[in-house]
Amino acid sequence: MTVLVLGSANADLVVPVPRRPAAGETVLGGDTTVLPGGKGANTAVAAARLGADVSFAGAVGDDRHGELLRRSLASSGVRTEHLRTSERPTGVAYITVTPDGENSIVVAPGANADVTEADVDALTWDGVAVLACSLEVPVPTVAHAVAAAAARGARPLLNLSPVVEVPAETLALLDPLVVNEHEAASLAPSFEALLDLGPRSAVITLGARGAAVVTRDGVVEVAAPPVSAVDTTGAGDAFAGALAAGLATGSSLVDAAAFAARVAALSVTSAGAQPSYPTRAEVDRLKT
Ligand code: ADP
Repeated sequence: MTVLVLGSANADLVVPVPRRPAAGETVLGGDTTVLPGGKGANTAVAAARLGADVSFAGAVGDDRHGELLRRSLASSGVRTEHLRTSERPTGVAYITVTPDGENSIVVAPGANADVTEADVDALTWDGVAVLACSLEVPVPTVAHAVAAAAARGARPLLNLSPVVEVPAETLALLDPLVVNEHEAASLAPSFEALLDLGPRSAVITLGARGAAVVTRDGVVEVAAPPVSAVDTTGAGDAFAGALAAGLATGSSLVDAAAFAARVAALSVTSAGAQPSYPTRAEVDRLKT
């Protein structure tokens, strides 16, 4: 069964700086590293590394960053027949990192803003078990995709990150809504109250503590294995990709969340987002 990921693809331009520049100031940084990123592409790569059949829907520009993203998706085994080349430049995240490890990020969505409802209408749904979306592409596109998935019998998962307003009828179709602890707190006063927003289920990632699964039956916590964290960039996207991969193989939501917590924990033990995502064999080794 296929995992269809609809979302963003960005080139991450990472530059170390001694401190953040003030308004009007120029600060000299170190060498720029260019990495494939974007929540959608990260999620797709995470799921594919685990052996899932994954197709990525989105848009990149006709430029070198677009080539980088196409290469990185393909080398992880992600199918790109629904990755369109847009007139607009590939999305870019400009990331400055200070010596304390803090990031400041400007995202220029570029081609990601050009992923439209017409792109959703061009999708093929044969064999698609799970649709995984996130919100660095336009909300109406995501809403249209979630509705299309539900109509075609695919299970819609939405990582509501960044938190933006989403139509109630979209939230009502989600199974699950996925958020981190901070996003959850901004949406509802308790984990259980997330269901009052309408989704059939919710999964809240809890950093080193793992994740919580919320259904009408209550809240179940799943632990992340203890690891020494090196870089948590893209951990949430690894979690979403692994969760979708688990659900596509028919796992229960709790089992898929427990699997995703292990995968995401492994992803924080090495640098970067996509380069840090483990294979199925690496996850299996962690269990034993
Ligand atoms: P986000 O990166 O979106 O803020 P979290 O910080 O909740 O999300 O992390 C997502 C997942 O990554 C967690 O559910 C957990 O599985 C894993 N994770 C993150 N930080 C750690 C850590 N320090 N140790 C182990 N696992 C971690």
